[in-house]
Amino acid sequence: MANYEDVFKKIVAHCKEYGFVFQSSELYDGLAAAYDYGPYGVELKNNIRNYWWKSMVNMNENIVGLDSAIFMHPTTWKASGHVDAFNDPLIDNKDSKKRYRADVLIEDHVAKIEGKIDKEVGKAQKRFGESFDKDQFIATNPRVVGYNEKCSAIMSRFSAAMDKEDLQDVKALIEELGIVCPVSGTKNWTEVRQFNLMFKTQMGATAEGASDLYLRPETAQGIFVNFLNVQKTARMKIPFGIAQTGKAFRNEIVARQFIFRMREFEQMEMQFFVRPGKEMEWYDHWKESRMKWHQNLGMGQENYRFHDHDNLAHYANAATDIEFKFPFGFKELEGIHSRTDFDLKSHQEFSGRKIQYFDPEINENYVPYVVETSIGLDRMFLTILSHSFKEEEVNGESRTVLSIPAMLAPVKAAILPLTKKDGLPEKAREILDALKGEYNCQYEEKDSIGKRYRRQDAIGTPFCITVDHQSLEDNTVTIRARDTMEQKRVAISEIQNLVSEKVDLKNFL
Ligand code: ATP
Repeated sequence: MANYEDVFKKIVAHCKEYGFVFQSSELYDGLAAAYDYGPYGVELKNNIRNYWWKSMVNMNENIVGLDSAIFMHPTTWKASGHVDAFNDPLIDNKDSKKRYRADVLIEDHVAKIEGKIDKEVGKAQKRFGESFDKDQFIATNPRVVGYNEKCSAIMSRFSAAMDKEDLQDVKALIEELGIVCPVSGTKNWTEVRQFNLMFKTQMGATAEGASDLYLRPETAQGIFVNFLNVQKTARMKIPFGIAQTGKAFRNEIVARQFIFRMREFEQMEMQFFVRPGKEMEWYDHWKESRMKWHQNLGMGQENYRFHDHDNLAHYANAATDIEFKFPFGFKELEGIHSRTDFDLKSHQEFSGRKIQYFDPEINENYVPYVVETSIGLDRMFLTILSHSFKEEEVNGESRTVLSIPAMLAPVKAAILPLTKKDGLPEKAREILDALKGEYNCQYEEKDSIGKRYRRQDAIGTPFCITVDHQSLEDNTVTIRARDTMEQKRVAISEIQNLVSEKVDLKNFL
C-alpha cells in the first residue's frame, strides 16, 4: 500500500462507512478530538474492555474493581499535583499560526534519526545475510553509534531542561536542531509556554455558591482516594490491586490522528499497592504481564516494544511505555509507572486523614507504594483497527477485511440463508436463536451470498454460516472462515463448538 497517510485515511473512512467510529456532532460540522462509537465500534470497545477486565480482575485473586465518579473534590487535583504540574509545553509557529507540543516536536525529530538507524540496519542485514549480528552492528557501526549518541544527547538535554523548568532552553534546543513547522516550513517560533490540560467546570446553581471542579484527567485518583474503603470492605491484603475503567478528559493542545489523541477518552487503569521497597519487583512483574496481554492477541510480537522514560513525571521513580507500531510509527499505547507513595501520602496531607496499611506480616504501619498500569481503551481500539485493516485481491476481486482477533470481533458469526424462501430463513433463524445467547450474531438475507460475505469481512466477522437446501435435508451448513476464506460443511450440532473454540474469551485468558 501507499504511504501511511493514505493507509490511515482509509482506516478512518472505513470506520465511518461501517459504523465503527463517527466524528462527534458531525451534524454541526464536528467537534475536534471527540468521537462517537457506532454499532460495531461499541461492540468492539465493549469486548476490549471486557478482555482487560477479565484478565485483570477475574484472573487475579488479589485485584478488585471500582467505578468512581468523574467529578471529584477539587482538592484531589491539588493533592495529585495536576493543578500545578499537569502541563504540556506548547509552542506556536508565527507564520502558520499552528500550535505544537514542544516535546512532540523534539521526539519526532529523534524518531527521524532513529529511522535512519533502522535504514542502516536494514541495509547491513541485506549485505551480510544470515551471518548478520544486529546487536554487534548497532554497538560498533560508527554511523549508527553516532546517530544513537545524537538521540540520547537530545533527550537528556530536553529532560534536564524540563526538570529545571527551563523553557527557554527547550526553545533553544528546537532552534538548534533546526526543527521547522511542518505547515509553513519555517523556524519562526514563539516562546515555549506551559499549558494546563485539565478542563474546568462549575458545580452549583449560583455564581457565588458555585465551586470550581475539574473533569478528571485520569481515573487513577478515584482509586487512590478510595484506597481504604476498598481495602477494608473487600478485606484486601497487600500486595493487591484496584482496577477501573472510565472516561478521562484532557484539553490536548494538538489533537490529531483520529482516536489516538482525544480530548474525551476512556482509560483502563490498575493501581497495585505494595510494601515499600518491593515496588521495582512488581514494576518488572507488571511490565512483563502487560506485554504478554498484548502479545496474546496475536498481532505480531515485532509490533510492540518498551520505551523506558528518562523524563519521569513528578510522581514516578520508574516508568515505561508499551509502544505499538501504528501506521504513523511506534507510539505509546500503555504506560506502566512506579508511582511510589506520592499520591497516597499527598492525599493524606491534604485531607488530614491517615491513609495507611497495617501489615501483619512485618507488624508495621506504612503508606503503600504503587505500581500503575494505564492503557487508553480508544488507543487500544486503534491498534486493532490499524493492524487488522487489509485490502486484498482474491480471485481477481478485491476485498477489504478486518482481521480482528476473533475473540474481540464485534459480530462473532453471521447466519446467512442462501435464499429468502423454501424454509431457509426459518432454518437459519433456528441456528441464530441457538447461538445468540452465547455471542453477538447477525442474521442477513439481503443481497447475493458473495456480497454478504464481503460485508461481514469488512466488519471483521470471523465466521459466516450459510444455510442452503441441503441443510434442510441433512442438518448441515457451510461455515466460512474470514481469514482463510475456507469453507467446510459441518453438522449444525457442531457449530457452537467450532465457533466457541476461536471466540470464547476464556480460551485466551
Ligand atoms: P501522551 O504522552 O501520548 O500524551 P501520556 O503519557 O500523557 O500520553 P498517560 O497519562 O500515561 O498518557 O495515560 C495512560 C494512557 O491513556 C496512555 O498510554 C494512552 O493510551 C491513553 N491516553 C492518554 N491521553 C490520551 C488521549 N488524549 N487520547 C486517547 N488516549 C489517551
